[in-house]
Amino acid sequence: YLKIDAIHKSFQEGLPVIKNFSLDIPKGQIISLVGESGSGKSTLLRIIAGLESRNEGEVYLDGTRIQNPKEQLVPGIDEIQLVFQDYHLYPKSTVEENILRPLLLFDKKYKESRLEMLLELLGLKAFRDKFPRHLSGGQQQKVAIGRALSVEPQVLLLDEPFSSLDTIQRRELIMELKTMFQNLGVTVLFVTHDLDDALQMTNDLVIMQKGKMIQKGHPEEIFSKPKNLYAAKLFSHLN
Ligand code: ATP
Ligand code: MG
Repeated sequence: YLKIDAIHKSFQEGLPVIKNFSLDIPKGQIISLVGESGSGKSTLLRIIAGLESRNEGEVYLDGTRIQNPKEQLVPGIDEIQLVFQDYHLYPKSTVEENILRPLLLFDKKYKESRLEMLLELLGLKAFRDKFPRHLSGGQQQKVAIGRALSVEPQVLLLDEPFSSLDTIQRRELIMELKTMFQNLGVTVLFVTHDLDDALQMTNDLVIMQKGKMIQKGHPEEIFSKPKNLYAAKLFSHLN
């Protein structure tokens, strides 16, 4: 399981961006992390993925410490995959090539079976030879998620991956992906500033504000006993 232990982060001479943030995520669990813009969500995900250094605290996956990137030359490990808000697809590679990119050195048979499975699960079979520019935003995001899942990671970190889609597209895509994540048994930390999106993904919520975890729990608990004004406001429209 993923253990995030007392992370503290401030950028050079800046105010702290992440303050004493701890969270344990059991294997296979899906959690939504909700926080307003600038609350430190992306920074936290980058730290978990080993792409950003931390000042204090540790990240462990199944008891193995994720190195603080300050200490190593090549940050990041395959077991933890981060999907960014803008998909970062290779524009001159097809859907198939994009998904297989991290598997360059893998056995051909393995690559083929992994590709078939992901194309099927993501509903992208008809698009395998298309280029990113020929796909809709949602389809491109699926390719990015397919690429992240190609290496069979244990943990998938999603950083507001659907913000370019409209409300209905987002809802449908989140429902589709949720089923897929559950079937694959992958641990997911889904970051968003939209409570409805968060709830579409799961009832296990974490509320974050100004770098701190405010509250953790199910929507009914947070709604009935919000720990601060932000948590209360988040739920006010659900009245
Ligand atoms: P959003 O919802 O807008 O994506 P966020 O919750 O992801 O916001 P972060 O991107 O993690 O927030 O940023 C948190 C704070 O850290 C912000 O005040 C931001 O200006 C600051 N910050 C982020 N990256 C850097 C950096 N490389 N150098 C200095 N400050 C940074
Ligand atoms: Mg962000």
